[in-house]
This record gives sequence, C-alpha cells and structure tokens, in this order.
Amino acid sequence: MGGKSDIKLIDNGKRIDGRSLDDTRNVKIDMDIINVADGSARVEFGNTIALSSVYGPRELFPRFMQKPNTGILRAKYNMAPFSVDDRKRPGLDRRSQEISKVMVNAIEPMLFLEDYPKSVVDVFVEIIQADGSTRVTGINAASIAIAAAGIPMRNIVTSCSVGKIEDSLVVDLDGKEDNFGSCDLAIAMATETREITLLQMDGAVSKDELKSLLEKAENTCKKIFEKQKEALRNLYKK
Ligand code: ADP
Repeated sequence: MGGKSDIKLIDNGKRIDGRSLDDTRNVKIDMDIINVADGSARVEFGNTIALSSVYGPRELFPRFMQKPNTGILRAKYNMAPFSVDDRKRPGLDRRSQEISKVMVNAIEPMLFLEDYPKSVVDVFVEIIQADGSTRVTGINAASIAIAAAGIPMRNIVTSCSVGKIEDSLVVDLDGKEDNFGSCDLAIAMATETREITLLQMDGAVSKDELKSLLEKAENTCKKIFEKQKEALRNLYKK
C-alpha cells in the first residue's frame, strides 16, 4: 500500500475493472466444500478466493492447554504459495500470524465458548487466490463455516474493506488498489447489532473521510451479510 502507480486507478468515476466507487466485486459463496470438516465454505470476492474449514468444538490436546471454564477459538490463516504470481514463500510469516490473531478477535465475541470447557474450535482459512482484501474474505468464509458446523453464534460476522484511492473513497479494494491506494481499512461487524469486532487501517484519511468510510463499510457489510444468509439458507434447504 502507498506505492506510486503509473496506471490510473480511477477514470471518470470508474475503477480499472469497470466498477463504480461503491460496487463490490462479484461475491460468490459455496458451502460444504470440504467433506471431512464439520463446516466449510468457499468465498470469492472477484479474484480473491478463500477456503475455510472448521472443526469442533472438540477436546483440546495437549491437555495442559485446556481451559477448565471455557473453550478456546484457534484460527490459522495461510496464503498458498501459488495464490500470487510471484510465489509467496510458504509457511508462517508475521503477516499470517497477525491475520490469524485478528481473525480470532473478530469472531470470538460471537461464540458461546463458555459452553465448551476444555474444548477448542479450530478455524482454518486458506487463500488459494489473492487479489486484495484476503483477510476480510477469509473472515466471511470462516464465519459461515462456523455456522455450517452447527456451532451456535450470537451473530454472523461480516467483513469488508474500504479505502481511499486517488482522492476517491471506494469499497472492496482489489490487489492493485490496495497496493497503490492511499488508505485501506478492514472492518468486521455483526451487521444486526452494529457491533464492530475488527477495525484495521493502513494509511491516513481525514476525520470526515473516516466517517464516510465507516458508513460505506456498514452498507457494504449489509449487502455481504445478505449473501451469507442466502448461502446458509440454501445449505439448510438441502
Ligand atoms: P489483505 O489481503 O487482507 O488486504 P494485505 O493488505 O496485507 O492484506 O495484502 C494486500 C494484498 O497484497 C493481498 O491481498 C495480496 O493480493 C497481496 N499480497 C500480500 N502478501 C503477498 C505476498 N507475500 N506476495 C505477493 N502478494 C502479496
């Protein structure tokens, strides 16, 4: 983020891929894509594709990690080496550790972990194609994979990115926009209660711009939430 781009990211109110400022990319959700998992989902935001599988609640081993009065949530975010054109170095890095941690923070408040002492809920997110906004795509996938696993939730978590590119405020940044824009902000929220569980911002905007970005983020999350609900409804109809 913050680099200089030779290409014009916005021309006449249209973005490189033809979207207007408030359009998300095409959002596609498929449920139950990993049969051995308790719940799973595949979420696409344009070219960004996240797979999530969920296991649990199940007894946590080794036992010394168990909490006698509550269960715990673990999340593991990973970007596949083949998910970007220059091959991402495989394995743990600081970025994936950070994203795994913020995923736990974004989702944990929605679970009733106190009902599962000594247990763990494991959430895996694998980015198989990365073109910007992978953490929010991953959170959307994880949230509905948890619901599909039948784990009770206070609310579904919905997540999106918003940001500023070339003096315009936009939603759902793709890879180029993330790289060459001046600000990107990731948010996760329960749209029904307006509870925000993740807010990360890279870059700078004015106070008024931040206010507008948050409004755009809420509107965008509402649209994505509808898609999440539809995907879950279709799953249960089956
Ligand atoms: P997010 O994917 O949540 O927006 P970042 O802002 O850290 O997180 O990353 C922005 C984008 O940069 C990613 O979506 C991906 O397209 C690209 N990217 C991230 N890490 C790498 C990497 N190691 N190699 C190539 N591209 C990367």
